[in-house]
Amino acid sequence: MESISVFDMLSIGVGPSSSHTLGPWRAANTWIDKLQRLEQFTMVDSISVELYGSLSLTGKGHATDVAVIMGLLGTDPVTFPIHEISHQVEIVKSSKTLHLNSEKPIPFDFESAIRFNRKFLKFHPNGITFRATLRNGKKVSDTYYSIGGGFIVQQERKRAKRQIERFSLFPYPVEKATQLIDYCHAENLSISQLVLKNELSLRTLDRIDEKLKAIWDVMLDSMYVGCHTQGILPGGLNVRRRAFESHEKLKGDIAYTNPVEWIKAIRNTEVKFRQILKWVSCFALAVNEVNASLGRVVTAPTNGSAGVIPAVLMYYLVIENHDGNFDDIKKFLLVAGEIGSLFKKGATISAAMGGCQAEIGVSSAMAAGALTELMGGTPEQVLMAAEIAMEHHLGLTCDPIAGLVQIPCIERNAMGAIKAINACEMALDGDPKDAKIPLDKVIATMWETAKDMTTKYKETSEGGLAVQVNISDC
Ligand code: SF4
Repeated sequence: MESISVFDMLSIGVGPSSSHTLGPWRAANTWIDKLQRLEQFTMVDSISVELYGSLSLTGKGHATDVAVIMGLLGTDPVTFPIHEISHQVEIVKSSKTLHLNSEKPIPFDFESAIRFNRKFLKFHPNGITFRATLRNGKKVSDTYYSIGGGFIVQQERKRAKRQIERFSLFPYPVEKATQLIDYCHAENLSISQLVLKNELSLRTLDRIDEKLKAIWDVMLDSMYVGCHTQGILPGGLNVRRRAFESHEKLKGDIAYTNPVEWIKAIRNTEVKFRQILKWVSCFALAVNEVNASLGRVVTAPTNGSAGVIPAVLMYYLVIENHDGNFDDIKKFLLVAGEIGSLFKKGATISAAMGGCQAEIGVSSAMAAGALTELMGGTPEQVLMAAEIAMEHHLGLTCDPIAGLVQIPCIERNAMGAIKAINACEMALDGDPKDAKIPLDKVIATMWETAKDMTTKYKETSEGGLAVQVNISDC
C-alpha cells in the first residue's frame, strides 16, 4: 500500500484543474529533469507534446496547453506569479521559440507542437507524451499520466515504489477507515493526533507547521481575492463572478485592510441561518472563481473542488468558534488530508476515473470529517460525517460546459460545503453504533459506481450539461 501524506492531498497549485493543469505542468517539469539526468537536455533540437483522452477532450478549457508550456519553461506552479502566465505563453506563441527550462531555445510552433488526440490510453484516461529529437537524430519520448489531485505517474509507477517504501516509515500505516479507528482506540488518540504522528516520520514538527500555514495562507488568500474581484471569468462562457456581489451585500460596513482583519470583521456580522448559508457559499464561490481564472488555490483534493475545504474551515472560524486559531486549522487540515487519502487508496480522486463524486464528493467528505473533529466529535463520528457527505454525492457526474471548470463546478463547491456542514451536524447528533454504512463501504461503493459510469460523464464534456447547453447559449 502507498503512503499518502497530508501534503500529497493538499498542495498549492494553479487553476483551473489539478489533473488537467497542475498535473501536466508537473509532468513537463519532471520530463525536463529526466532529460537533464540522462544528459540529453543540451542535445534537444525539437520537441512535441501529445495530449490523450480526457486531457485532449477538455484540455483547451482546462488550459492544459498553457500548463504544458509553463512546465516546459521550467517554471514552478507553486511560486510562479500568476499574472505573468499569459505574457509568457504569448512570447512563446509569437516568437515560435520555447526556452526549454528557461535556458535552451528551441523552435516551437504552439499550434502544431501540442497535439490533442481523442484516443484514450489504456493505463489512465489522462495521458500525456513528450517527444524530443536530439542533435544526433535520436528520438526519445516519455508518457506520463495525470491521475488526479496534481499527482503524476508513469506506467512503471516508480513513484508508487517510493510511496510504498515511505509507507513502511509510518508508525500507523492506514489503508482502511477501520484501521484508523483501531489505532485511535489502541493509542487513545484523536484522528488529527494520529495523522500528525505519521507525518512526523516524514518531516519535523516545525516543517509540518510551516507547510500547513502556507496552505492555509493560500486558502485564505483565494477566498479574500475571490470576494474582492469582480468581472467576467475567462473562457467564453460569460460567467459573471458572483462572490464579489454576494460579499458586498453580506459584509455591510465592516472595516478591514487585510485577510486576517477580514476574519475578525466577519465575526461581527449578522449570522442568521440565511446569512450563514450565504457566507459559506460566498467563500466557496470565491475560491473557485479564482481557480477558474487560472489563479492560485490549494488542490483539496483537486482544483475543481478547491473551494469546499476552505469554505467549511472559514465557517468554523467566523461562525462556530471566534477564538479558533492555528491549532484548529492544523487539526482540520490533518483530518481532511487523511480522509482524502482513504478515498485515493480505496477509490479515486480523479474525475476522469470517477466523475464529480471523486472531486466534490471527496472534498465534502474531507471537510465534513474535519469539521466534526473540531466540533468535538469522536473519531467514529468523524468517519460517520465523512460517510454521510459522500453517500449523498454518489453517482455525481462530471460534465463541465465547454470543458471549462465553471459550470457546474463553481456552484458545486458551495453545495459540497453546505452538505459537509450538514453531514457534520447529523453525525454529531447520531450514534455511530446505529450507522448502517461504514465509511469503507461507501468508498467501495463510490469506486464501483465510478467503474460503472460511462466515459461521457468522466471529464470528457461529451455528456450531461456539457451537451445540453452550448457555449453559444451562455
Ligand atoms: S464537474 Fe466536478 S469533477 Fe467535473 S470539472 Fe467540474 S468540479 Fe471537477
